Formats: sequence, structure tokens, C-alpha cells
Amino acid sequence: MTGGAAGTTGGATGTTGTTGGATGTTGGATGPGAHEGILRRQTQRESAARTYARSLPIVPVRARGLTIEGADGRRYLDCLSGAGTLALGHNHPVVLEAIRKVLDSGAPLHVLDLATPVKDAFTTELFATLPGELAADARIQFCGPAGTDAVEAALKLVRTATGRHDVLSFTGAYHGMTAGALDVSGGATGVRATARLPYPHDYRCPFGIGGERGAEIAARWTENLLDDPKSGVPDPAGMILEPVQGEGGVIPAPDGWLRRMRALTEACSIPLIADEVQTGVGRTGAFWGVEHSGIVPDVMVLSKAIGGSLPLAVVVYRSALDAWEPGAHAGTFRGNQLAMAAGAATLAYVRENGLAERAGLLGARMLAQLQGLAAAHPCVGDVRGRGLMIGIELVDPEGMGPGGLVPPPDPGLADTVRRACLDRGLIVELGGRHNAVVRLLPPLTLTDEQAAAVLDRFADALAAAAQAHQNRPAAARPPR
Ligand code: PMP
Repeated sequence: MTGGAAGTTGGATGTTGTTGGATGTTGGATGPGAHEGILRRQTQRESAARTYARSLPIVPVRARGLTIEGADGRRYLDCLSGAGTLALGHNHPVVLEAIRKVLDSGAPLHVLDLATPVKDAFTTELFATLPGELAADARIQFCGPAGTDAVEAALKLVRTATGRHDVLSFTGAYHGMTAGALDVSGGATGVRATARLPYPHDYRCPFGIGGERGAEIAARWTENLLDDPKSGVPDPAGMILEPVQGEGGVIPAPDGWLRRMRALTEACSIPLIADEVQTGVGRTGAFWGVEHSGIVPDVMVLSKAIGGSLPLAVVVYRSALDAWEPGAHAGTFRGNQLAMAAGAATLAYVRENGLAERAGLLGARMLAQLQGLAAAHPCVGDVRGRGLMIGIELVDPEGMGPGGLVPPPDPGLADTVRRACLDRGLIVELGGRHNAVVRLLPPLTLTDEQAAAVLDRFADALAAAAQAHQNRPAAARPPR
């Protein structure tokens, strides 16, 4: 197993302090003064819409594997991994080599959607990883470079193929930030409303039951909606779902429920779109998230890790859906050769080194350790995940949640935990409906030693944050 930056896991107390000043290799001034100045200018000049930059006030100048080094010389263990993009961590040697090879070959870097040997190799490698039934009959569309572009393309594809408009989507879903993707996501407001169906949620079950029974009722609800001529839901052009909801709070779809959704959509001739932007390339313990349930979707939306850390997105679908006119979904930036080379190298590395399986085993072990930690901390309401996609939901144990079943989420505590993690040299982000879920998305190359260091730092941060919150005034607690 490779990919870890040697000597970076350090002790549980986190930041290693100075590392001798990261100068010389990164093309810019570094050191504490530069760090402050860069952050100050960012605040002055960049949009109020900036996101990660607010919660992670660091200035990365160098990175390798799990580790990022800031301009102030501090080192961090990165469990955000570019929002789940970096399957092999930062600057993995096979990725760098693939990029260098293209650069040194004199190949054109911009080619619109023309055929190239690099693209040909990427497509071959990607098809080799797909569920066999889909790969045997698949078409691929190279769309704009972000996950949200691939979602837009998928929506347009199924609308064109079916001649219908509405797309079924789920509560808590996240599919991106462009208009169509927002339209099928759970969190956005001010967009055209389409039906949101209940996504099974064991901990905060919309039916107050959880487990298999909760998932069963969620499935029946959807089945009934499509069966009832007076449900008020027009015949849909498709259904879009995430095999594990990521931004929605790390909620794995039960395999049985996914199979029900597959059977239902198949029976009703509704194309099923699996958004594998975050769950793909080994993240959940299988190469693709849908593999756990054995279902084969009609459309797969892929991005993040498939570009090996560079921007790349594609839609892969059954040939029967390929009813597009030439140029129906065009765009200037659909031929990123460096991303295709880096992506092909990443896909091959994950496949050849069994990293999906490794993610499944290591993820299960980390989950068990975190569950042990939860037992000692009543403010941890739930620990869940699949593979190396892990969520820890923070709650106010003394509060009363909806229906009195589980305690209310505590986003304030989650924010304090995130900051305490950063103080200890651990980068994590928050997600979930109420922003109260601490998310761990480490690279699949995580070593046992690094996993132990991550959990040590997290445990230390959690204990400190819980302590700080224990005595906070009532006004600072979540509403009851
Ligand atoms: N779908 C899913 C499941 C995602 O997690 C994301 C990004 N977090 C997107 C789509 C959108 O991808 P992008 O941010 O690259 O547009």
C-alpha cells in the first residue's frame, strides 16, 4: 500500500509546528507572514459565496498523500480529500507520472471532443471498471468538467429519450449547484419543485422506525406514488439517486431498498440515474456504490476521482437512451487530456491494488472504533458510513428532537469539533441536513498507521469540544 507521506502521522496532538518553512518549491512566498497576507487578500477579494475557505483558513503550498503543508509551515492530515476527489491522496506518483508523460509527449492539451490516444485509453480503462451489463452496451458522453455538468447532461439525456420532463429525486440529495442539479437536490430553495421522495434514513427515519422496516415503508411510498393515477406526480423522465448520500449526511442506501428502486423503475420504464460522483472509484468498498446491491442503473453520473484530482466528468448510459442529436450537449472544455491521463492512471491503480476492498475493510474497522468512541460521548448521536465515507452526527443529548425519538442535531458542536480537529492538524468537513455531521473522506491509500493518527486526533478534538460545550449557556444550545 503506497500513498502515505512518510513521517506525517506524528502524534495525536496534531500539528507538528514548524517544518522549516516551505520555501522554494511552490512558486510563491511562504511563512507565517505570507500565510496571513494571502488569507487577508482572499477575504477582501473573493466572493461571499466562498465555502471551504471559511472553515479551513489554511494556505496549502505542498501536499503528498494524506498530508497538506500550509504556508505557515503547519502540516495537516487531509480527511476532506478535495471533497472526496483524491482517491489516491495528493500528488500520487502514478498520477504525476501520467500527467508528465502527456506533457512530455507534445500531445495537444486542448482538443474539444476529438478522439485522442489519451481519451481512448481513459475510456477503455473506465469501461473495464463498469458493471459488466452496462459496459457491454454503454455510451459515454464527455460533458463539462464538474459533477454538476454531468448531472445536467444526465437530466437532459433522459428527458430527450423519454419525451417527459419531471425527474424523481430524494430528500437530502445533493447533485450540484447548477440550476437543473439544484432542481433535483434536497437542500436548495427557490428552484422549480419536483417530487422529493423519502430516502431511507436509519437514524432520523422520516417514519420514526428506522432499520429495514423504515426502508420498506420508504420504498412502498415511492411505489404507491407511481402506481396511483391521482398522485399528482406526472410520468417522470427518470429517477436520480446517490448510492450513499454524501453531502446529505453520509447515509448509505440499504441494498434492499436500492433493488426495490431498480425493480420499480424498470417495471415503469423510468431510466434510473445513479449519481456516483462521490461514491465512485472504490470509495464505499466497491468500485461503484451500486455494486453492493448488485443493481445496474441505466445512467451513471461520474466525476471527482475519475479525473485523478483534475476536473473531469462523464455520463455513461445504455445505448437505447442515446437519442441525442449531434451537438445536443456540447461544450468547449470536454477534452481535458491531463485529467484523462491522471484519471486512467487512478482507475487502474485502484483496480490493480484492490483499493476498493481495502477501503471496505479499513472503513469498517474505523467505523467500529468510532462507535466505541460514541459510547463514551453522549453527544455523538450516530456513526455511520460505507467504506471510507464516514459520518459522525453530533447531537444535543439533553434536547428533544422531532417526535422525541432521537436527540436534535447540534451544528454548533459540530463546528467546534471541526475547529478542534483543525487545531490538532486534522482537516474534516461538515455535512448533513443540519450541518451537524462530521465527515471523513480520507484517501483510499490510507495506511493503518495514518488511520490510527486520524482517529487519535479526532478523539482528542471531540473530547475537547464536548467539554467546552458542556457548560455553555442554554441560549447557545440548539432549539428544543
Ligand atoms: N453529485 C454528488 C453526489 C456530489 O457529491 C457532488 C459534489 N459534492 C456533485 C454531484 C457535484 O459535483 P461538482 O461539485 O463537481 O459540481
